[in-house]
Amino acid sequence: MKNNQVNKSSGRLNRSFIKSLLLCVCFLLFNYSTGFAGKKLSSIEIFPDKILQGDACYIKISGIPNTSDASVTFDNNKIALDYDNSSKSYIGFIGIGQNTEPGERNVQILLDNKKNINKKINIQKNDFKIQHLTLPKSKIDLSDKNLKRHNKEKKIVTELFANSKKIKIYNSKFIKPIDNKISTPFGVKRFMNKKPKNSHSGIDLKAKMNDPVKSINKGVIVFTGNHFFSGNSVYIDHGLGIVSMYFHLSEIKVKKGDEVNIGDVIGLVGSTGRSTGPHLHWGVRVNNIRVDPLSLINLNKYF
Ligand SMILES: [Zn+2]
Repeated sequence: MKNNQVNKSSGRLNRSFIKSLLLCVCFLLFNYSTGFAGKKLSSIEIFPDKILQGDACYIKISGIPNTSDASVTFDNNKIALDYDNSSKSYIGFIGIGQNTEPGERNVQILLDNKKNINKKINIQKNDFKIQHLTLPKSKIDLSDKNLKRHNKEKKIVTELFANSKKIKIYNSKFIKPIDNKISTPFGVKRFMNKKPKNSHSGIDLKAKMNDPVKSINKGVIVFTGNHFFSGNSVYIDHGLGIVSMYFHLSEIKVKKGDEVNIGDVIGLVGSTGRSTGPHLHWGVRVNNIRVDPLSLINLNKYF
């Protein structure tokens, strides 16, 4: 009788010991899988769920202290990251090139210079439309002088993108520069006077001559000027690799170095440069990859 009681209680002991042991094993396994044994659990999320060619994506690496190092690479392109203290996460934006092959791809994440993680994303084919335009011959076949001019302007812009600011400057959700309908979407494959040309690098928004154009977020003006194709142009650096562009303006209201807030008027709608009539061409680059500006707006719900 006495023996039986002892056995019963040691049985309970054994059961609770085994339970604790199992919990411990589970905890260790979970921690091991995240690569942060002994530290807080981490998770890596990439938004949105459905990613198309030409989309901007948002990456969030949560549950790691700001003393940890993190680096993210996609397509050999290093992604600018910022540590967000309120959510204890690293955040960044990944641009998917419009010519990136559809299918499963890896985003490489390196934590504390030792833990390599491949996070899979599935890129879906974007059904870019075809557009035929007729323009004056002088705007299509460039003279030597205009070609020289364009190449010089291209160099300025290329350097500007390569030197975009890595720190975060934007401080709210992104807005559209004009809340109007789209006349030409992003990525449209263009034929001008029947000749194939570069695909559309941004979106065209319907607008009237001299309508005000707003900055899509807080940022720093990194370029203003008149370029052969884009006419009167403004480039704004919002940090974390995000640069926005506003083309064909009739008037520019800011100058290089100015700080602008979300909604500040940076210029007026026009038809300067290679344009068929008043409209706003709005472009966005993310870590030097041109993306559909609307895909950046679509990320607002994730931060
Ligand atoms: Zn355009």
